[in-house]
Parts: sequence; structure tokens; C-alpha cells
Amino acid sequence: MSPSSQRIDAVYNQVVARNPGEHEFHQAVSEVFESLHRVLRKFPEYVDESILERICEPERQIIFRVPWTDDAGSVHINRGFRVQFNSALGPYKGGLRFDPEVMLGTVKFLGFEQIFKNALTGLPIGGGKGGSDFDPKGRSDAEIMRFCQSFMTEAYRHIGSMVDVPAGDMGVGRREIGYLFGQYKRIANRYEAGVITGKGTSWGGSLVRTEATGYGVVFFTEHMLAATGRSLDGTRVLVSGSGNVAIYAIEKIQSLGGLVVGASDSSGSVHDPEGIDLDLMREIKEVQRGRITDYAAQRGSAEFIEGRSVWAVAEKHDVDVALPCATQNELDESDAATLIKAGVTAVVEGANMPTTPIAIDRLREAGVLFGPGKAANAGGVATSALEMQQNAIRDSWSFEYTEARLAEIMEGIHTRCAETAEEYGIPGDYVSGANIAGFTRVADAMIAQGVI
Ligand code: GLU
Repeated sequence: MSPSSQRIDAVYNQVVARNPGEHEFHQAVSEVFESLHRVLRKFPEYVDESILERICEPERQIIFRVPWTDDAGSVHINRGFRVQFNSALGPYKGGLRFDPEVMLGTVKFLGFEQIFKNALTGLPIGGGKGGSDFDPKGRSDAEIMRFCQSFMTEAYRHIGSMVDVPAGDMGVGRREIGYLFGQYKRIANRYEAGVITGKGTSWGGSLVRTEATGYGVVFFTEHMLAATGRSLDGTRVLVSGSGNVAIYAIEKIQSLGGLVVGASDSSGSVHDPEGIDLDLMREIKEVQRGRITDYAAQRGSAEFIEGRSVWAVAEKHDVDVALPCATQNELDESDAATLIKAGVTAVVEGANMPTTPIAIDRLREAGVLFGPGKAANAGGVATSALEMQQNAIRDSWSFEYTEARLAEIMEGIHTRCAETAEEYGIPGDYVSGANIAGFTRVADAMIAQGVI
């Protein structure tokens, strides 16, 4: 084993020992490290400057108590997190996730991914992430508001438009961003629009931010397909999830001539051979805040598959493209086998780390194009950076202009990944291309800024 490979193993073991039980964080680190053997052989300065050790240790980790009162007057205590991972390229930037499964390790895995994702956009944003183990499901608006206000009562002292800029993630949408921003404004006594992104468009938000992650995934997919002489027109697509990312990915695929034959939520999935009726889906998910079962009940052509992931639809229907847009580790080895059997040619990640490492290996061995989330789903955070730009110059851009900027950024990310993979002699390997291009941009800035 070469000295640089030995160093990679040693640092990985140290990360595991220092962060016990944080499996998702270990998985995210290991996945990036696997791509770095070639880089460290070529550029020993990254080893000499202890970049691996430094990049895996967050600059700051904040854990705090979030007390709040429910509508019946009972007090609840949740835990709030903000991990400020890396500020070599700009203020920490990344979303907040409200989900009962959120632990420090979850936030660290997401924050670590965010460093490289943000670097790949080419924009001046560092990496961070936060959240809480609060479960927003079934809570009233008033309860959500009190929780967000309590969260921000502590978080406000750690953030700022030049310091750390949160946004949404699972469980945090426009409504929550509004309550969080309102409380920040009240405590800080300043209208600092650039302190948070994903705001309403009449109060500092950017057009296209809502659609950006889903649209961006589809733009990235188009470029991947185009590189092998194909297009989305006429393809059969499966999209997991039915949240923000999934809904706008479906919209864009349909506008480009693709047929989306399955979607899902945590209760199960639907097979809809005639193609998902997006108006109905949005009415149910966004307006009624209902379940995908309700979609199946109201749509004649759809069949509900209880308790199973959307990949089960591939047992019944040929599939060309699969977009996992729900959550981490939702597509495993057996799902990969089902998709390969159904003829899938591209799997592109809309969520963060939705495909298990073994599933990625299986797909790539079978010659399936694989687009990693840190490249493919960067459209959301990239548009957040565009929102920060608009806030800084007190402007608001048109939908067309902002979408064109997003499309340009996604093309740039695709080019960066593809060219880096070529340069390292692994053409078509988007995983390594993304990891190497993201890593080298951050590492070079860290070296330039000295040992801090
Ligand atoms: N939560 C999104 C992500 O995973 C967006 C973060 C942001 O806009 O800051 O990239």
C-alpha cells in the first residue's frame, strides 16, 4: 500500500474512533476518501498539510436545548444542532433538517457532504448544516411557530449573512423559514435578508429557489445523458419521494418529454403507468398535506404499493432513469438489482446520499450512469447563493433569468465532474469526478489560508 493510501486509512480510522456511532458520517467520509487515492499520489502537499485530518473535523459544533409549549400547554424539549463545518470558500451555508431521527452524526454527515457540494457550484459558500430531532408531523401552525422561535432564540447568536446562512431541508420549508427569519429580525433588530435563504419572494426570497433542487437534478441528468448521446425525451422514470425535490423534478422531466411512472412517500409508493398527474399530487401533498395513498385513491390509473419503496415499481415496469429524491440510504443493493433488471441506464441522486455504497458499486459494475447527490442536487444550494447575491445588492431577478443562471451552474458542475474524471483517467466516473473537484477546490483554499 502506498504511503498516501496508508494515510487515508489511518485518518479514516481516526474519524471512526473520534466520532463513535456516527455511521452516516463515517459512510460519507469513506465515500469521499475512496476517490482521493489518485489525488494524494499526484499532490503530496495535501498530505503534508494534514488536509484530510482538518477537513473531517468541523470548525465548530453547536448543540442546544429547544424548549417549546404545545397547544395543550405541555412543555417539550428538543435538541438543536448547527455544525459549522468549513469556511474556506465562504460563510457556512447549508440547510436545517427537522426530523425525529436527526442526531449529531446526521448533521455531520450532511455538513460534510455540503462542503464539497457547495465547492462544486463554483460559488463562494462554505459548508454547514443544522437541524433538530423535532417532529413537525401533525403539529399545528402555532406549534411550528413556537418551535421555530425557540430554535432561533439560541441559533441567532451563531449565524449572520457573513457568518453562517441556514436554509431549509427535510421538514423545513417556506413556512418554517418565515418563522425563523421573523424571530431573527426581532432579536437582532435588523432586516438582514441574507441571514437565511428560502424566504418568501415578497420579503427577500429568490424566484426558482423552491423549484431549484428538483430542476437542477433534471438539468444534471440531461447533461449526463447528452454526454452519451441520449435525452430524457420518451424515457420512463421513477422518482422516490413526493416532497419539494421530487415534485419539481417530476415537473421538469414531464416538460422534457419523460414519463414518470412511480412516486412515493414514507407510507408506500404508487405505480402510475399513465404518468404521475402532477396537479393532483401537488394538491394532495402541498395543499391538503395528505399521503400518497390519497393520490392512489383519487387517480384511476394508479396502484398503491403499501409499505414498499418506489423501486418495487421496477418489478412491473421498464425503467430508463431513477431519481432517488427522498432520504439517505433509501436505495440498497437489492433495489439496484431490480432497477438493473428493469433496464435502468442512469441513476441520479436528488436526495443526500440516498444510494448505499454497495448499490452504487452494483450499478456502476452494470454500466449504469451514476450521478452523485453532491453534484446532481447542488441546484438548491446554488440558488440559495443566488438569493444571497440578490439580498446583497437589494435586487430581485426574474424567473427566466434566475432559471438560466441555475441551468448554467448545473452545466458548470457537470463539466467540472466530467473533466476531472477524464483528467484522472476514469472517464464517466461522476462519483470520483465530483469528490476530487470539490475536494481540491476546498483544500487549495485551506492551504492558502494557513493552518487555522
Ligand atoms: N438543504 C439543501 C441541500 O441539501 C439546500 C441548502 C441551502 O440552500 O443552503 O443542499
